[in-house]
Amino acid sequence: MSSNFFQPVDASVVPRFAGLSTFMRLPAVASAEGLDIALVGIPWDGGTTNRAGARHGPRDIRNQSSLMRRVHHVSGIEPFSIANVADVGDLSVNPINLMDGLKRIEDGIAAIVAAGAIPLAAGGDHLTTLPVLRAVARHRPVGMIHFDAHSDTNDRYFGDNPYTHGTPFRRAIEEGLLDPRRVVQIGIRGSIYEPGEHDWAVAQGIRIIYMEEFVRRGATSVMEEARTIAGTGPTYVTFDIDCIDPSMAPGTGTPELGGFTTREVQEMVRLLDGLNIVGADVVEVAPPFDLAGMTALAGATMMFELLCVLAKSVQAARACKIR
Ligand code: MN
Ligand code: MN
Repeated sequence: MSSNFFQPVDASVVPRFAGLSTFMRLPAVASAEGLDIALVGIPWDGGTTNRAGARHGPRDIRNQSSLMRRVHHVSGIEPFSIANVADVGDLSVNPINLMDGLKRIEDGIAAIVAAGAIPLAAGGDHLTTLPVLRAVARHRPVGMIHFDAHSDTNDRYFGDNPYTHGTPFRRAIEEGLLDPRRVVQIGIRGSIYEPGEHDWAVAQGIRIIYMEEFVRRGATSVMEEARTIAGTGPTYVTFDIDCIDPSMAPGTGTPELGGFTTREVQEMVRLLDGLNIVGADVVEVAPPFDLAGMTALAGATMMFELLCVLAKSVQAARACKIR
């Protein structure tokens, strides 16, 4: 532990509802220099095909993240003691130009990666993960553990448009950013556009674990397989909030019935412990459709769960370097 690490505002000194809103009540910093993990907002939903609003996600997730405390109650991980973490603010975005929006997100994440920090992002819609992967996987493809109701591997929308939040992972595979044999999608469900919609993804080597299979097998078995698929190589974790049932996370653009409970996704993310995670995000929190902040709270809590796993791997990597 280093006493130089940034610390959250103490809620026994300044109440949670007071002060400037930042992720986990950490200091807001101008760049990722010196950080192990950079919490970053991507307030952009230019890829949304149905109800929009995920552009407002980072601000509401910041607000709800004031509920997070210092110690994980199951693992005992104290992320702010074992890793240097801060809020680097929101990336520069362009709400009226899709291609420029993607470019700005890629550049913003590339700066975080260049500083040696792991990005933990709050979206934004799921198309934001494509430019994030362009930065994180610039020099080699990565594996991916993907929690979602949707595969997001469709090809074209509204004619010949390749970039929507339903297409990011087809583009990422085409661009060589993902190694599809190291990609697993968990929680997929809901009606689809046509029979065989997921055939392309499966043919690439992606493992799709539909919700019904999860219900049969449970979290431990599913995550054991997911860990085997991701292996020891660099792995990205992307968490679409719509993987959670709309009864617990209604504030999202494309809700699907029959989803995970919040307790199930917490259990699964804890089982990512020990993987080589090079970046992560929580996307598709759309506050205009939220109720009492419950979806933003789910997003903030999943960011904290991811942060704990990331912080522990930072600590392990540091121990390796010292030895
Ligand atoms: Mn998605
Ligand atoms: Mn989805």
